[in-house]
Amino acid sequence: MTDRQFSLLIDGQPHSGAGSFDVVNPATGEPFARCPKADEALLNQAVAAARAAFPAWAARPAPERAALVERLADGIEARAGELAGLLTAEQGKPLDQAMYEVMGATFVLRAFAAMRVEDKVLRDEGGNQVIEHRTPLGVVAAIMPWNFPIILLMNKLGPALVTGNTMVAKPAPTTPLTTLAIGEIARDILPPGVLNIICDENDLGAALTSHSDVAKVAFTGSTATGIKVMQSGAAGLKRMTLELGGNDAAIVLDDVDPVEAARKIYGGAMANAGQICVAIKRAYVPAQMYDAFCDELARLARDAVVDDGDKQGAQIGPVQNRMQFDKIRALLDHARANGTILAGGTPLDRPGYFIPPTIVRDLDDDAPLVREEQFGPVLPVMRYDNIEEVIARANDSEHGLGGSVWGRDLSRATAVARQVNSGTVWVNQYLAIDANIPFRGAKMSGIGSELGEAGLHEYTQAHVINAVAFEAG
Ligand code: NAD
Repeated sequence: MTDRQFSLLIDGQPHSGAGSFDVVNPATGEPFARCPKADEALLNQAVAAARAAFPAWAARPAPERAALVERLADGIEARAGELAGLLTAEQGKPLDQAMYEVMGATFVLRAFAAMRVEDKVLRDEGGNQVIEHRTPLGVVAAIMPWNFPIILLMNKLGPALVTGNTMVAKPAPTTPLTTLAIGEIARDILPPGVLNIICDENDLGAALTSHSDVAKVAFTGSTATGIKVMQSGAAGLKRMTLELGGNDAAIVLDDVDPVEAARKIYGGAMANAGQICVAIKRAYVPAQMYDAFCDELARLARDAVVDDGDKQGAQIGPVQNRMQFDKIRALLDHARANGTILAGGTPLDRPGYFIPPTIVRDLDDDAPLVREEQFGPVLPVMRYDNIEEVIARANDSEHGLGGSVWGRDLSRATAVARQVNSGTVWVNQYLAIDANIPFRGAKMSGIGSELGEAGLHEYTQAHVINAVAFEAG
């Protein structure tokens, strides 16, 4: 156990919490640190602090707010090595990927610091001027999952702060520590109350999302929890962005080399041990190249270095928590009985939650591994015979987050991409997420946008001023 102490952040002050809980290193399965825990009274204090800080923060000129967001990015960058080490310890991802997440978080903050909400003149003719301007909403509750705890916080913090809102942030209970360490940095940069951080054991979400002084909920997590969040915010008609689960299909067209396509798709399925909302979660391949494609994927999976993220050379770390580990094991048991496992398939015989990259073929579309979001390093590969059929199969999902199409003929691949019903479809690439490009889910994968100008606007109320001259008579 580390003896490092972590604190909540409430009204600019460190707070030791109303109790504490263990944080487990998924590479060992053992606790390695204690995390302070809030209760409802501390949650109320955090919301009250954010509410009290709101008028002065909203009144500050946008360039000043943006400058402080930039300073936060600088502060995070200055401690990137330490933050990445902590992220690996609690989340499991290999150190280089943890560093990539921490540095990615600074890029997101800087991208939002460069954005502004501008007045829009909707009409200016015949003495009638109509202007739409945008005002901040108030206190934002930001709730994060455990797969990318830092970047998903910054996707919310950047636009919220730049547009003049204040925030109460709540990380997932299994990955709270790097967020608290960033709170230490923010404490010296942001005015008290502008950012508050509380932790829970999955027990304070509803109190936060239904709080009468919370104006907006920015939530990333599973679809099941997203539905609860929407219900609990309904009474207050809270503004919401819900970034939820996905079951992204990769459609391989018949004009690519199957071995090359397998190499590209492998990374999209296995990065972060498959625990990415927009990881490739099922692949559809023309029947004539099915064997070659599956065999190359299996070769890559067998060659992967699966190890503690702290170890030099590790490519795939453990699954983040016990519950997820058990869920993937159950999916593998079903896949073993109903399909063919070409590589992986069995957890490593060592402590921690290690599942090696696994390739499964010959499953039906109705197998749980194909229908459900596996959120782990396991890829099912299905064959198809014609393009209309495969588009229908890709769209036959309650989810619609991302997706990808792989083909040499770009216009044909793009035409297929247009028919995939999801928020984003990549062509010949994956995970091309960019702070300047909006990201959103279709169907049960979410509501509202994160990132880009659309993501910035989600933190504002549009306000129309429609004026004509006062005329006598
Ligand atoms: P989860 O839904 O279990 O938890 C997410 C967060 O919600 C946690 O902080 C949790 O404590 C909190 N929470 C739990 N109950 C709550 C309640 N009743 N009210 C409010 N908050 C509550 O999700 P997870 O298992 O941590 O994350 C994995 C899921 O997140 C996957 O489905 C993945 O696809 C999704 N995800 C989506 C995106 C996206 O951008 N669409 C990005 C990353 C992850």
